[in-house]
Amino acid sequence: MGLGSLFKRNKKDSKKEEVAEDCHIDIKTEECDSCEKCTIACPNNVLQIVDESCSVRDPQVCKSCKVCMAICPNDCITVN
Ligand code: SF4
Ligand code: SF4
Repeated sequence: MGLGSLFKRNKKDSKKEEVAEDCHIDIKTEECDSCEKCTIACPNNVLQIVDESCSVRDPQVCKSCKVCMAICPNDCITVN
């Protein structure tokens, strides 16, 4: 299964969201300023910066600890 099949993109109120179906991480990429706080803080190396915004590198290793959600200064990340 390719990475592309793990993600689907939705458009809501002109905001771009990236949805990782396995771990339920939503990232409002338009509000991300690539500070890398979430990528450094994640204990499982789930997140990465691609094209100047945060994206999910490997949703299968997310433990839903919500550290990324707490550390993001722009409230870009929601983990369900
Ligand atoms: S919820 Fe935890 S494990 Fe999952 S991406 Fe965020 S910091 Fe990483
Ligand atoms: S902490 Fe927030 S603003 Fe910083 S890279 Fe991660 S998602 Fe983007």
